[in-house]
Amino acid sequence: MTTSIAENIQAVRERMAQAARRAGRDPDQVLLVGASKMNGAEACRAAIAAGIDALGENRVQEMTGKLAERAYDGAPLHFIGHLQRNKVRQVVGRVSLIQSAGSLALLEEIDRQAEKLALVQDVLLEVNVGGEESKSGFPPGELAPAAEKARTFSHVRVLGLMTIPPIQQEIHGNFSYFEKVARMYVDINRNLYDNSFKFLSMGMSDDFEDAIAAGATMVRVGSAIFGHRQY
Ligand SMILES: *Cc1c(COP(=O)(O)O)cnc(C)c1O
Repeated sequence: MTTSIAENIQAVRERMAQAARRAGRDPDQVLLVGASKMNGAEACRAAIAAGIDALGENRVQEMTGKLAERAYDGAPLHFIGHLQRNKVRQVVGRVSLIQSAGSLALLEEIDRQAEKLALVQDVLLEVNVGGEESKSGFPPGELAPAAEKARTFSHVRVLGLMTIPPIQQEIHGNFSYFEKVARMYVDINRNLYDNSFKFLSMGMSDDFEDAIAAGATMVRVGSAIFGHRQY
């Protein structure tokens, strides 16, 4: 028997709360973002009705189509996927948070488009914590200088960090990556951002409990909520 999206969300919330309590943290301080890629408007609406904190999309075209269907009404929408500079225009001002700001060129373009719309776009800086060629995001060594430079953009507001660690074969394999990004978060927040950061986004279906143990304040969960994706 398959479970409903509402039941899945409740089960994920319970596991999140347990992980937070085990770490001595307040469960209310970890937000659940539903990664709704490849799931239709009905699934998004079901997640919103079940109280998801936000929905996150990966692909601009899919998001644009679902926006036209009003799939996200009632919840904040985040962009969490790889963002090409030539698609920034279709995202700025349409989402409350771009989690995947992973290069200065991209930040510059977000700033430019946000200025045109006379708004300030909230973003997270994406960290390529594993230093993988195939992934976007700032390599750890480039993050602090980028965060410093990002303060000079007047139409971009950096609210924290996001990371997608390397795919792991071993259980708990990502814990040390999560701890590393959590340390970068604390340092940059204190040294460059007057402790104004709000979101440390890390952890997915297979590892969100470890991410919470390491300090995540936002997890992005897809298959554990919506079921396995059919590619
Ligand atoms: C798909 C996706 C997720 C969720 O992945 P699951 O393993 O299905 O939970 C989280 N973050 C990003 C950026 C994604 O693309």
